Amino acid sequence: MALIVQKYGGTSVANVERIKHVAERVAKFKMLGHQVVVVLSAMSGETNRLIALAREVQSEPDPRELDVLVSTGEQVTIALLAMALKDLGLKARSYTGSQVRILTDNAFTKARILQIDEAALRADLDAGRVVVVAGFQGMDAAGNITTLGRGGSDTTGVALAAALHADECQIYTDVDGVYTTDPRIVPQARRLETITFEEMLEMASLGSKVLQIRSVEFAGKYKVKLRVLSSFQDEGEGTLITFEEEKHMEEAIISGIAFNRDEAKITVQGVPDTPGVAFQILGPVADANIDVDMIIQNTGANNTTDFTFTVHRNDYARTIALLGKLQPQIGAREIMGDEHIAKVSIIGVGMRSHVGIASTMFRTLAQENINIRMISTSEIKISVVIDEKYLELAVRVLHDAFELEKAPAV
Ligand code: ADP
Ligand code: ASP
Ligand code: MG
Repeated sequence: MALIVQKYGGTSVANVERIKHVAERVAKFKMLGHQVVVVLSAMSGETNRLIALAREVQSEPDPRELDVLVSTGEQVTIALLAMALKDLGLKARSYTGSQVRILTDNAFTKARILQIDEAALRADLDAGRVVVVAGFQGMDAAGNITTLGRGGSDTTGVALAAALHADECQIYTDVDGVYTTDPRIVPQARRLETITFEEMLEMASLGSKVLQIRSVEFAGKYKVKLRVLSSFQDEGEGTLITFEEEKHMEEAIISGIAFNRDEAKITVQGVPDTPGVAFQILGPVADANIDVDMIIQNTGANNTTDFTFTVHRNDYARTIALLGKLQPQIGAREIMGDEHIAKVSIIGVGMRSHVGIASTMFRTLAQENINIRMISTSEIKISVVIDEKYLELAVRVLHDAFELEKAPAV
């Protein structure tokens, strides 16, 4: 007998038919003698619908009330699944995040899980019940409802698996695993049998929304056995996230390509090239709680320099306005911005032991006349910022250039 946590995403519970299908899948695991905890998302599109409703009422919705609102999506699906399970003759109970005391901090709309009280869940499991928990939500110390950020049900699933020392956490979605890149963009993308935890962390943080980054962080911290699978297929091993010490089945140099359109670029032109310039520009940005991602400062000429960085697109207007006010103080000639950029990243632990990866990437983009606007690298990834209109082309040609559609020779 094993204890399994299964998380089903929005498309897997999109309607009553899909929910009944999930109930049947859960029943199969139960029949095999396993204990099962199920974590659910809201029906696909529901969270967006609720956010849009809030915006109709208040242009910048109050974060506390927004969390009260958007957490309702998951409450609908858990109740329906518990009913469907009971209809199949199983014992089941649904719980909201606060009912199972998923304690978080009080950062509404992006709260972090601090603690989970697993004793009550265990009592239910020991009584033979399937426990169905609402994903994406928790409660702060004062009893306020909080949510964990978009895609946060993944994190609920992994956190519950960690708290319960589950044998496996299975993330069921609409693709049958983690692919070399988003299969919606590159149809030739290939499912990976395994991916290392480090690579998955980079993929998630650089834009692959198949797993929320915090769920991967949790899996790493508590060594949760994490697998991504399809709820639309009855067979298949999905993709297993492995840890360094385990032997990898695949030894590719590049494992995957991630991309996002979430960022915008800001250039502060013609600033005096003196010590403290970076701080003068980025200090106030940080004070305004705006996260900065990539940063480039050119070598100065004529005692002035250009300073370029990226922020989340949602923070773009605010950052431009803030720097506009500071312009005289910084002594900048001009502040320019570009919202139509995209970031493309190649990721692979094999990069550590291979040279020439960056040059292959740059040559491939050059051959398509795609201008690279910014570059950043780490031990296992190279990211470039390009014009958004070339994003899909860039991902496709890079996928081709690194032959990601082929399984690496073992
Ligand atoms: P869910 O609602 O089940 O949480 P998501 O939409 O959050 O599902 O995540 C699944 C989607 O992630 C897929 O439909 C796919 O388009 C996208 N995706 C992006 N990158 C990848 C990747 N490397 N491998 C698999 N899917 C990916
Ligand atoms: N329903 C939430 C969202 O759409 C959480 C999730 O699906 O993981 O972001
Ligand atoms: Mg998701």
